[in-house]
Amino acid sequence: MVSKEKLKKQVEKTANALKGAGKKISSNKKMNSGKERNKDSGKGRNTVQPHRHCRMCHIPIDIKREPPICVEQKCEDDWKKNKKNEKMVRIAFFIFAAVFLGPLIFKGILAF
Ligand SMILES: [Zn+2]
Repeated sequence: MVSKEKLKKQVEKTANALKGAGKKISSNKKMNSGKERNKDSGKGRNTVQPHRHCRMCHIPIDIKREPPICVEQKCEDDWKKNKKNEKMVRIAFFIFAAVFLGPLIFKGILAF
């Protein structure tokens, strides 16, 4: 024969277990719906593999390719030319900075 006290405890335990299970299910549902939403919204994006474009003619190339240009000789030549230009621009900028900022800094030092 089961005592009333024991039965009450047993009922409480069961109720708590059910509550817990309900929580678990609802949280699982949330997680699942979130996953599905992500899947749906990302469907279009997921079909596009990570890739780069040739810096010269913009055709898709391998993501690990270095320099980021395709196999065309013309693109390689253009890339080299561009790099040279970039170097020249950088050097020109430093000269510009030295010529225009140098005297300003010098003046600043003299003022103190
Ligand atoms: Zn190219």
